Amino acid sequence: MRALVYLGPGKKDLRDVPKPKLDAPTDAIVKVTRTTICGTDLHILKGDVATCQPGRVLGHEGVGVVESVGPGVATFKPGDRVLISCISACGRCDACRKGMYSHCATGGWILGNSIDGTQAEFVRIPHADTSLHRIPAGADEEALVMLSDILPTGFECGVQNGKVAPGSTVAIVGSGPIGLAALLTAQFYSPSEIIMIDLDDNRLEVAKSFGATQLVNSADGHAAEAVKKLTAGRGVDTAIEAVGIPATFNLCEDIVAAGGTIANIGVHGVKVDLHLERLWSQNVTITTRLVDTVSTPMLLKTVQSKKLDPKRLITHRFRLDDIVDAYATFGNAASTKALKVMIEV
Ligand SMILES: [Zn+2]
Ligand SMILES: [Zn+2]
Repeated sequence: MRALVYLGPGKKDLRDVPKPKLDAPTDAIVKVTRTTICGTDLHILKGDVATCQPGRVLGHEGVGVVESVGPGVATFKPGDRVLISCISACGRCDACRKGMYSHCATGGWILGNSIDGTQAEFVRIPHADTSLHRIPAGADEEALVMLSDILPTGFECGVQNGKVAPGSTVAIVGSGPIGLAALLTAQFYSPSEIIMIDLDDNRLEVAKSFGATQLVNSADGHAAEAVKKLTAGRGVDTAIEAVGIPATFNLCEDIVAAGGTIANIGVHGVKVDLHLERLWSQNVTITTRLVDTVSTPMLLKTVQSKKLDPKRLITHRFRLDDIVDAYATFGNAASTKALKVMIEV
């Protein structure tokens, strides 16, 4: 079968690899129909993710059709249309019993990381009963690809951890797909202001059309002052970090109001400074999280009822045969204006 294979830092190739086989009784083999590329895949290609070794099929997002299931799978059968969660979970270990699927003892984020992923014609899904979601009849499957990772990530790590509340003020640092996912799902709670901060005016304009109430271009280095001005000097109740570099985390420390929360989503590759000399007295909370995808069933319902329209995040479409071009488009988002690229298999 055809698959996008990671070959070491800076190297990848679309090539023929053996089709996956059922390994454990709880596995399913899914024929992938649609997948996409995540910012995390670009981190892997930079060599930032040590658990992902050369030879690995990338990808942890997608939808498809169950092709076969092991004898231990009770919920799904061949022919079922399914949404693949980026997090695999056994449902039984200590972490899973706490709802912390991201730290499942035999799962977590393994797809396209420590086991082969979804940027391929077929993928093996471990713990299929608790790692797949049935797609309701008539659902828009392109929209649902956004539920494999980015919508639950923006919602759980940004909005829920950030305690976004009715009437509260929110700033989201980073207007890429994850920041926009946080922007869309923050609106479940009707905050009074959602300030979007980015270096790219195009992405800020997209954020405005997605419901941001204020836009701040941080290119001039004065974003913190701008946010203070917009909030009568207080700062924001929730500062969501959706980039993963020291400058953006530091900005969150500068704009969080007394009593507020900094909710980190970004994947950080280097250390950041914690300014306790200022923050020690400010009653702030700092949260970190790897998405658990516990909110996926809820998000599926909001997409079905059209309360949420994640399809708006899709800017480009490719075939699997052209996935290398899709990587180039996604990796050069400043010039291509790419958000999410849809890949039909
Ligand atoms: Zn991802
Ligand atoms: Zn588990």
